[in-house]
Amino acid sequence: MAGIEVSALHKRYPDGTVAVDRVDLSIGDGELFVMLGPSGCGKTTTLRAIAGLERQTSGDIHIGDTLLNDLEPAERDIAMVFQFYALYPHLRTRDNLAFPLRAEGLPAAEVRERVDEAARMMKLEKLLDRRPNRLSGGEQQRVALARALVRRPRAFLMDEPLTNLDAELRADMRTEIKHLQAELGTTMVYVTHDQVEAMSLGHRIAILNQGRVEQVGTPLEVYQRPASLFCAGFIGSPPMNLLEVEVADGALRAPGGLTLTPPPGLPRDRQLVAGVRPEALEVTQPGAEGAVPARIVSAEALGDEIIYVVDHGGERDVRVRMPPTVRFGEDAPVGLRHAGGTPPVYDTTTEELVA
Ligand code: ATP
Repeated sequence: MAGIEVSALHKRYPDGTVAVDRVDLSIGDGELFVMLGPSGCGKTTTLRAIAGLERQTSGDIHIGDTLLNDLEPAERDIAMVFQFYALYPHLRTRDNLAFPLRAEGLPAAEVRERVDEAARMMKLEKLLDRRPNRLSGGEQQRVALARALVRRPRAFLMDEPLTNLDAELRADMRTEIKHLQAELGTTMVYVTHDQVEAMSLGHRIAILNQGRVEQVGTPLEVYQRPASLFCAGFIGSPPMNLLEVEVADGALRAPGGLTLTPPPGLPRDRQLVAGVRPEALEVTQPGAEGAVPARIVSAEALGDEIIYVVDHGGERDVRVRMPPTVRFGEDAPVGLRHAGGTPPVYDTTTEELVA
């Protein structure tokens, strides 16, 4: 087992596209590390470079003390699981699992032992004699994961392995992958564009944008203090409200008079934007203490919560998360107030967190 160090990784494709732009990542031994970002941000290219399936233009990749740059994929002792299962259609589950071990020339008894162990871990005992066309999508993906497990690699790389599964199965598999990783303690790098998946799986998350790392942090850190306006707009559903603010009389004032508590150390003479989570705001009766006049634009009842879209003097489409018991109709005049806490504040020009 070992951690993975990615240093100044750069990948320029022959057509000139820079997919990965001097990326540094320090992934701990035994860590479940998630790379999250929108389509095209360079997640897959980074992962493929770690696996050795793509040659980087420059930069180094280490696993433990081993420099991987010039090693073939098979020499890296890393197992990769893709979005598509890539099972051999003519082989039964048992032989799909045994395939990489036989290719390594392991003795038959050990092959059997490892296959049985992986089948037990992925709950495949009853499916060992079936071919892929008689397995469901979820079962095929479990076989693909088990096939990565049998090799007992130094690290697992997962590229959106759950994308083809339906929502319920995805949630189940997510739990299984999390348990499995904890049980094995093997370093895992998991790529997804799904923030829910990233938040629920990752010990830490790297948020990528246009080939660069915007932030690395625990799920709580990236949720509470996004490092840039990009991260603030990417994490959370709905994401943070980005409100233009001014510092006046020791408070942060948004247009329309909404008042927020400023974080310490705010710079003067810069244009600022506060990132306010929908749950940090409240819709109230009009005229309630501390509330500014506002109007309901729309309400989305989601069962356990309602997302209100609210206009108030100068700010349009502010999103507020409320319990389902607080009911206001469209167009209703209401109050809007900050429920507390200090929002992160960004510089409008640099788009970076300033306090
Ligand atoms: P997705 O979530 O859609 O898979 P990604 O974040 O994994 O996206 P990459 O597949 O790493 O992104 O692609 C990063 C950038 O590199 C994109 O702009 C993509 O179009 C480009 N790219 C990927 N492969 C090649 C290639 N072989 N030649 C040229 N450009 C490429």
